[in-house]
Amino acid sequence: MHDASALPTFEDVLAAAVRLQGHAHRTPVLQSRTLNAQLGAQAFIKCENFQRMGAFKFRGGFNALSRLTPAERRAGVVAYSSGNHAQAVALSAQILDIPATIVMPHDASPAKLAATRGYGATVVGYDRYTDDALAIAQGLAAEHGMRFIPPFDHPDVLSGQGTAALELFQEVGELDALFVCLGGGGLLSGSALTAKALSPTCKIYGVEPEAGNDVQQSLQQGQRVRIATPVTIADGAQTPMVGEITFEIIRRLVDGVHTVTDAQLVQSMRFYAERMKMVVEPTGCLSLAAAIQASEQLQGQRVGIIVSGGNVDLGRFAQLLSQG
Ligand SMILES: *Cc1c(COP(=O)(O)O)cnc(C)c1O
Repeated sequence: MHDASALPTFEDVLAAAVRLQGHAHRTPVLQSRTLNAQLGAQAFIKCENFQRMGAFKFRGGFNALSRLTPAERRAGVVAYSSGNHAQAVALSAQILDIPATIVMPHDASPAKLAATRGYGATVVGYDRYTDDALAIAQGLAAEHGMRFIPPFDHPDVLSGQGTAALELFQEVGELDALFVCLGGGGLLSGSALTAKALSPTCKIYGVEPEAGNDVQQSLQQGQRVRIATPVTIADGAQTPMVGEITFEIIRRLVDGVHTVTDAQLVQSMRFYAERMKMVVEPTGCLSLAAAIQASEQLQGQRVGIIVSGGNVDLGRFAQLLSQG
């Protein structure tokens, strides 16, 4: 995949936005004077924690499923996920009347497991530290003739994810910098396609957990690096390796990757809860934590921060906040 003409483009993001109309929420963009004062910048916070099923993943899942043929829809879909992609595919499948099977870790948050089942999907369990979820999902797909829907490394998935940034730029205009939570790179690559088209001088940064900086390493080495599943509270960013398509886009369009610690994530979680009255899951705090860390370089700038999701068990949420 080094042929630029084969990569998705901003046109694909625009087409995804049309498919999502009437199905995805147009999520709010919020501002906080307290945060602006702390950053010395004007921050525009795109709140995908308020998206349907609680995360941006609905955008990519629904876009991908919308593009299936009637025969593919009848055969059904299979996906694997530590959580939000599972719910995204399950909800999209329910809306489009497609049978869905989701491969999820046994220790996924109870809320995520229950939500996925609640959308009518069949859940198959796996061990996130020892099993190969991709192989399990692909095996089920081959066995039952179902269509496999990957969580990030797919043109329709990442194009759908890019519609969050599309709404952000449509609402607030051009930005100087954009911080995006980063796991396998679907949200970041889709956002980058959008940013380059609508705000060409905007610096685009992905943000990974410090314990799992595989994309940062991959950019340094010029090729995708695989790491052991990182141990971090950012469970949506525990991907061992960036996608092939997403990496090609990130390599071309993204200005850099920041890393933050779990302690910084908890601080940002507390900020959202205390000052903005929002429940944001640890992975969704990556972008704000990095912006705070980089604030010296952001003085006087207009900064976009994409909050990727809000799905966290409340018991876990309270426990993390009481530790911080
Ligand atoms: C999936 C997910 C991410 C990472 O997205 P990628 O497209 O895999 O980079 C970040 N935050 C949340 C809440 C997620 O569900």
